[in-house]
Amino acid sequence: MNWWIMDDNNIVVMKFGGTSVGTIEKINKVADRAIIANKEGKNVVITVSAMGDTTDDLIGLSAKISNNPSRREMDMLLSTGEQVSSSLLAMAIIEKGAKAVSLTGYQTGILTDDTFSEAKILDVGKKRIFKEFSKGNIVIVAGFQGVTSECDITTLGRGGSDTTAVALASALGAKYCEIFTDVEGVFTGDPNIITNARKINILSYDEMLEFASSGAKVLHLRAVEYAKNHEVIIHVRSSFNNNEGTWVMNTESVNDKMEQAVVSGVSYDTNQVKISVFGIPDVPGVAARLFSEFAEAHINVDMIVQNVSEKGKAAISLTIKNEDLKIAKEVIDRMKITLHIESVEVDTDIAKVSIVGAGMKSHPGVASKMFSCLGENNINIEMISTSPIIISCVLRKDRVKEAIRLLHDCFSLEKE
Ligand code: ADP
Ligand code: ASP
Ligand code: MG
Repeated sequence: MNWWIMDDNNIVVMKFGGTSVGTIEKINKVADRAIIANKEGKNVVITVSAMGDTTDDLIGLSAKISNNPSRREMDMLLSTGEQVSSSLLAMAIIEKGAKAVSLTGYQTGILTDDTFSEAKILDVGKKRIFKEFSKGNIVIVAGFQGVTSECDITTLGRGGSDTTAVALASALGAKYCEIFTDVEGVFTGDPNIITNARKINILSYDEMLEFASSGAKVLHLRAVEYAKNHEVIIHVRSSFNNNEGTWVMNTESVNDKMEQAVVSGVSYDTNQVKISVFGIPDVPGVAARLFSEFAEAHINVDMIVQNVSEKGKAAISLTIKNEDLKIAKEVIDRMKITLHIESVEVDTDIAKVSIVGAGMKSHPGVASKMFSCLGENNINIEMISTSPIIISCVLRKDRVKEAIRLLHDCFSLEKE
């Protein structure tokens, strides 16, 4: 056993994603796993996502009624998906002769702020879970949901069940949090696209944050932030076997002597749009006004490029998430007059590719290698952003898979 998980306090938190509870057969497999851990004398908490594509299906239903539904009502709707899977899992465990209870976020005491659809966890109650442990129950908590101080149901953003699990592990003092999913861990690139991608054994919080924020949806970004802030070790592993997966943790203590990989992996994000705003006056304070309006509308701006100005006018291009486009257009329309914007262009055919690696900090030449690799293959780079451990490029959406495969090869990340 790895030393960092020894002397565990007997509480295990396991999270199973949508594919892992996608059918009754799979729910029964999760029930078996929970019962085995319980028989080993552990207090087991399981958090589950909605079955298969349930969340997407529910969003589809709402779209038949409104193209701009109330965010509060959306959370009421989407939270039901996790209630279905958690109650079915409890039934499966009971059916197999063990004891279980399912709880909603509200019943558990997962208190959030009131940012519907992207709520932030403020507190996690422990009382109810410990009470259920004392009755011998395996506790199943519906993932992805919480409740405001006004008792309104909230959700934590797409993929948010990971965050529920990490928050539970932190509150309960579990030594680590197990995220069971449909791949064997975090790979050097999406294993569903890069067939020779290699599983990474240990990854630092910072690298995982960059992976998650640049599109590798294997872990919810908020979950990694929460884990880093509360020092929760995450084990990402397959729900279909017992193999060891990827440990996401503070790596300084583990491998001070090991040299950090220059590039740990590649990622991509096709859920982005580029907005270009032309003809804005090139005077101090304009960018501040534009971006503070975006911030007030809760729009996260990712990449930003300001072009060389001509005749006192500047052009700014920025990228945002697809789902924020509607609100972003409203913000820009409002500002057209006050900021004297001449024209706006929206480009939905873009994607972002990134390379991530803690070792980049001390190795010059990584960016030029990335740009050469794309350039030699005739892939045009439209925007670039860099930080010490990630380099990202925006390019045409239809070249994205080819680009990440090329970069994966170029940095020799394949299986040994
Ligand atoms: P779950 O439903 O279990 O939460 P997700 O679909 O959210 O699972 O995340 C798992 C998926 O993440 C994988 O099927 C894989 O396609 C994708 N993925 C993207 N990048 C990576 C990566 N670097 N390593 C592993 N999986 C990745
Ligand atoms: N069911 C939610 C979603 O599909 C939350 C999750 O799966 O973590 O985004
Ligand atoms: Mg997920």
